[in-house]
Amino acid sequence: MVATMEAVDAAVKVPDSETDVFIDQAYIEDLLEKAKYTSDADIQNILDKAERYEGLGHQEIAALLVSKDPAHTARIFDIAGKIKRHIYGNRIVMFAPLYVSDYCVNRCSYCSYNCGHEFSRKKLTMDEVRQEVKFLEQMGHKRIALEAGEHDKECPIDYIVDCMRTIYDMKFENGEIRRINVNIAATTVENYKKLQEVGIGTYVLFQETYHQPTYEKVHKAGPKKNYAYHLTAFDRAHLGGIDDVGGGVLFGLADPYFEVLGLMIHNEHLEERFNVGFHTISVPRLVPANGMNLTDFPHLVDDATFERIVAIIRLAVPFTGMLLSTRENHAMRKKLLQVGISQISAGSCTGVGGYAVKDKKEKANPQFNVNDDRTALEVISELIDDGYVPSFCTACYRSGRTGDRFMSLAKSGQIKNVCLPNALMTLCEYAIDYGDEAFRQKADAAIARELPGIANEKIRVKAMANVEKIRQGTRDFYF
Ligand code: SF4
Ligand code: SF4
Repeated sequence: MVATMEAVDAAVKVPDSETDVFIDQAYIEDLLEKAKYTSDADIQNILDKAERYEGLGHQEIAALLVSKDPAHTARIFDIAGKIKRHIYGNRIVMFAPLYVSDYCVNRCSYCSYNCGHEFSRKKLTMDEVRQEVKFLEQMGHKRIALEAGEHDKECPIDYIVDCMRTIYDMKFENGEIRRINVNIAATTVENYKKLQEVGIGTYVLFQETYHQPTYEKVHKAGPKKNYAYHLTAFDRAHLGGIDDVGGGVLFGLADPYFEVLGLMIHNEHLEERFNVGFHTISVPRLVPANGMNLTDFPHLVDDATFERIVAIIRLAVPFTGMLLSTRENHAMRKKLLQVGISQISAGSCTGVGGYAVKDKKEKANPQFNVNDDRTALEVISELIDDGYVPSFCTACYRSGRTGDRFMSLAKSGQIKNVCLPNALMTLCEYAIDYGDEAFRQKADAAIARELPGIANEKIRVKAMANVEKIRQGTRDFYF
């Protein structure tokens, strides 16, 4: 977001030398090389450890990544499914992106907002923000990811702060946005403080690639070109008071195994320094966008490898939520839900002002092409058909369960006591406010099936009473 050198200099912890780059490129390459010689017995030990929900170390992750043995892959999927069910149950948290500005000073070769691309750029007025939010609320969304390109004149931090205030204030019928995650460019501690003050949920920033030579090649101009400054953004976010941060890479830019290890080392760096690693990990995969050709990227990840990578991340960091966007198609999303994904977007539009226009393709320039263009209701309805409980829960951030408080609850297993009732209560709200008769029946059946499964008796009784109150018209219960 803020790109001037003055702003950079103002940061409390300014990375100004290679010593601040905690990703050691040669170390990762060495891990991958050594991993080739892992015995079958060692792989089985690693998988046993993963099956105990203990997470994995660097060399262990590298060993799983490079193994080509189909029997290992089958066990990886099996354990990933087991971890997913044990920790996340059958709940899937729903979200949608909201693009507010496509002005950008960077030249990222994979993105249509690249400053070298000629198109009519747009930034939403506050009235237009309200209009977009109204459409999102009419879809039932309660949790959004606010997205913007980097441009400190057109889209300064104060504009983002205004957008957040406008979004939180905008209530349409029973709708409201209860959590805003923010995905904007690496910035200063002072700017992160501003986001914290206005109620940011998770600060999301993708490293795009941890492989520094590739990073420098695909970021040809603009402040984002600075690998160290980008890499240390979460350190500054923490120093600014934001303790929920979400990482990710854009799979397809560099060797995907290198990227997974980069993510894990970044996670550990944050754990060591701030006592809490990533709140979430996103796994976007390169898809076509205006002004770029996929054929220019030599490291595209095929479906089978991608599925294996998602499963291995699930084994490596069992308590970190994993997000998937509509970059992936319907079939792939379905598969990945089984091996690790815990949050998905639905009904997404990836262009500025796109929700308010009927023909999105003609009127909004999307940041990338969407591969699952079903409506939110269609996605949510199918989740129930598949045995999942779609959740619109935003309770943790609103109850102050963030950062290490959240992670210690997650690791103790106690978070389950609140996730399921919150999922069922928010699904009940959704069904009444946004579902048709057929959907309501389906959701009611799922709620009736799941309510008795709430282990804590006090919470179960209260959740049952709250569901009745929601049916009578009260809203917004959470534990
Ligand atoms: Fe700008 Fe972000 Fe796109 Fe890069 S990825 S061109 S920083 S909007
Ligand atoms: Fe997420 Fe917390 Fe809600 Fe569980 S209770 S779904 S962890 S916000």
